Amino acid sequence: MIPYGRQSISEDDISAVVRVLRSDWLTQGPAIERFEATVAAHCGVRHAVAVANGTAALHTACIAAGLGEGDLLWTSPNTFVASANCARYCAADVDFVDIDPRTYCMSVDALAAKLEAAEAAGSLPRVVVPVDFAGQPCDLAPIADLAERYGFLVLEDASHAIGASYSDSLVGSCDYSAMTTFSFHPVKIVTTGEGGIITTNDDRLAERLRLFRSHGVTRDEALMDCESHGGWYYEQVALGYNYRMTDMQAALGASQMGRLEEFVARRRELAGRYDKLLSLLPVGLPWQDPRSASAWHLYVVRILPESGKTRREVYDAMRDAGIGVNVHYIPVHLQPYYRALGFGPGDFPVAEAYYEQVLTLPLYAGMTDEQQDAVVRALTEALA
Ligand SMILES: *Cc1c(COP(=O)(O)O)cnc(C)c1O
Repeated sequence: MIPYGRQSISEDDISAVVRVLRSDWLTQGPAIERFEATVAAHCGVRHAVAVANGTAALHTACIAAGLGEGDLLWTSPNTFVASANCARYCAADVDFVDIDPRTYCMSVDALAAKLEAAEAAGSLPRVVVPVDFAGQPCDLAPIADLAERYGFLVLEDASHAIGASYSDSLVGSCDYSAMTTFSFHPVKIVTTGEGGIITTNDDRLAERLRLFRSHGVTRDEALMDCESHGGWYYEQVALGYNYRMTDMQAALGASQMGRLEEFVARRRELAGRYDKLLSLLPVGLPWQDPRSASAWHLYVVRILPESGKTRREVYDAMRDAGIGVNVHYIPVHLQPYYRALGFGPGDFPVAEAYYEQVLTLPLYAGMTDEQQDAVVRALTEALA
């Protein structure tokens, strides 16, 4: 089976992990700071705070933002469930903003209209989570303008988009967001096995992220309530979690970051090849905003009605042919958990219509041209 995504692990990546295993520190050691510094330097951002996974990154960011009961978080329905669940962990409510029919990211027009209505109703969100779908950044500048006008915090879920850029700005720089999160799950662009990171330019948010990542416990006297009892003294000043990343994971991540440019270049090359090889088939190709450069986490096509085939037929035929196609995403508001909260079919029609047609083709840095040709052959046959 050719998978839809997979990690690329070099001998240097392996050596970096083995060095940590032979060292004094398996967790809370120097590899974490090195990894954080590597990501911060890449993004051109003041702070990067590493955590156990991308979901923990979103949750920790929501806590740092002060999200709580009675608050609202808005995100895109076309995302992994974690982008919405992070609000529920904080006892906040979730709502969604429909997607742009071309980029499949949150629609800025829909966001502006919903904010206007919410202002009139007195139900503005505290946090908005735009998701850089498939590796293509959202239209971040107007979202930042709306944040200014309506007073919400932008938490960019860039799980798909490390290495991408928007205008002259690298994703993760936080030029247009208060915080940006990444995931390092093996299907993503850079991996640590499990892992995530939050970037921010805000010193206060960074301090809170570090606090909540590790039990709400601090050894920083400036953050303490009482006077120190001595060198052993620490204080728990808030209810935090153990969301720490291990040093093995961080060492793998730092080594992988050294290969980011190579990974993204190959993904872009493969995406360009798909564009050419699929141009005569009855499928909709992924539209790219000329102001941004995608990191190409996913290559998503639409199975058009004129093909005479349903997405399900094409999916089954390709799976039978050994091609690990996938679907991103089932709209989050249609999940039973969210239906039980009052959402249902028809709420976000663009995301729902999109979902009916889409298919994710295999794409990963280690994919060969021959493997890609096999995918194209299988798709051609499935549509014939
Ligand atoms: C993968 C992903 C997450 C969650 O990341 P994990 O590291 O798997 O917890 C969140 N949001 C999006 C958009 C993702 O693709």
